[in-house]
Amino acid sequence: LEVTGAPILSEDQKWKGTVLVFHDITELKQLEQMRKDFVANVSHELKTPITSIRGFSETLLDGAMKDEAMLEQFLHIILKESGRLQSLIQDLLELSKLEREDFYLNIEQVEIQRLLHDLLPIVQQHADKKGVNLRTKIDGETIIQGDSSRLKQVFMNLLTNAINYTWSEGDVTLNFKEKDEDIVISIADNGVGIPEEEISRIFERFYRVDKARSRNSGGTGLGLAIVKHIVEAHHGKVDVESVVNEGTTFHVSIPKKFTKT
Ligand code: ADP
Repeated sequence: LEVTGAPILSEDQKWKGTVLVFHDITELKQLEQMRKDFVANVSHELKTPITSIRGFSETLLDGAMKDEAMLEQFLHIILKESGRLQSLIQDLLELSKLEREDFYLNIEQVEIQRLLHDLLPIVQQHADKKGVNLRTKIDGETIIQGDSSRLKQVFMNLLTNAINYTWSEGDVTLNFKEKDEDIVISIADNGVGIPEEEISRIFERFYRVDKARSRNSGGTGLGLAIVKHIVEAHHGKVDVESVVNEGTTFHVSIPKKFTKT
């Protein structure tokens, strides 16, 4: 609590009383702490790949590049780590756009099943690489009002996670249905699952249940924060059901009609 005071004086400068202003700064302090944590997280996330890129380049220049096998192996690492930097910067830019006060969606008529179908080739490639079976049930022709490129990103992020957090031979299922005024898209996997006490935290920026697993799969730790922002901007919601070692289902509900606020 912050208190500031000032005297009230009469016209002939005599003291008449004092005004006290009580200012609750708890929320401000919390915001300030969150901002500091975020900057610390970003710095750390950027530092890790850069350290690795520098280290491997130096080792190559110090003579390791004469060994062809080593040269190739190290170049692959450098490429992977620079790719990680690129995804991180892309996600950070996207998140900062979504968090701006004057951010708005580009609302248009979206053929939602077609949008989902359009994502499948890339998702299928990723699933094949990991040996995961992708099943889809997205029949019908439903038109909703929404921002199609941002909605694509929502489903892309959720499908990528479902594949990443599932063992090979596992199943990832994409389902579409209509429920009253909403559409509901569910993405289910039978992978590692999320402990119940952590479910409420996974939408926070950089929160990860298993850091090593997320990094290995190329995750930035920002995917779900982006998903939440986009879905909420559409006045929708995301529900999560999960059982550790059995799997996770994300349900995204979005109103078919967009209402301006
Ligand atoms: P990341 O880039 O780490 O995947 P996200 O914001 O997309 O970041 O997800 C945050 C965390 O939530 C992940 O690190 C992971 O621990 C957990 N998570 C997300 N999706 C799933 C899923 N389908 N199954 C299990 N855990 C998940």
